[in-house]
Amino acid sequence: MKGKLTIISAPSGAGKSTIIKYLLKEGLNLEFSVSATTRAPRGEEKDGKEYYFLSAKEFKNRVKKGDLIEWEEVYKDQLYGTLKSEIERIWSHGNHVLFDVDVKGGINLKNIFKHKAISIFIMPPSMKELERRLIARGTDTPSKIKMRIAKAEKEMKLADQFDNIVINNRLEQAENEVYRLVSSFIRT
Ligand code: ADP
Ligand code: 5GP
Repeated sequence: MKGKLTIISAPSGAGKSTIIKYLLKEGLNLEFSVSATTRAPRGEEKDGKEYYFLSAKEFKNRVKKGDLIEWEEVYKDQLYGTLKSEIERIWSHGNHVLFDVDVKGGINLKNIFKHKAISIFIMPPSMKELERRLIARGTDTPSKIKMRIAKAEKEMKLADQFDNIVINNRLEQAENEVYRLVSSFIRT
């Protein structure tokens, strides 16, 4: 029997990674789909764990060979995509796939997998709070933060294309809500 798929998308800084970390340790048989990217590893990131780090040339070759089910230029000259082999790998373990993808990628994956997938949009309580979180996280320069905010404004308009919208105001409440949605989807 094949597993199901959970798609989590959000504007950068909304709290997606935090919520995904929580979900992965809750015993739902979810396994993280490791994407391919052309961006450089950050901090302690290891090839094959957070991402498969590829050169632009390698990435384009994989696209040509039809190895990716979806891909996007998420930021300028930074390509990200989902490998078909990841989905097969996770299903072969008897697990359900968990995707952390950008908003367009989330919509594309939902269109591909339809009722086998649940798509969840994590919404920040306000743009002001989104900016505050990006600044507090301390991982981006002011100009990168500006870019992320501009992108977020466009992404927020696509939220209603997702199966569910979860507002991440109080973190614990948002985590519980996402857990409830995913666990009941997986059970049915
Ligand atoms: P994303 O993966 O969507 O870019 P992160 O999970 O990295 O976002 O969260 C961005 C920052 O906001 C992090 O520093 C995180 O600890 C913080 N954060 C996440 N959720 C909340 C929340 N509900 N309230 C306050 N801060 C939060
Ligand atoms: P970061 O560089 O901060 O790890 O990720 C940047 C953005 O790329 C995030 O919004 C993340 O969800 C998105 N992303 C990661 N992997 C993929 C993927 O395989 N496909 C798409 N479309 N987006 C991805």
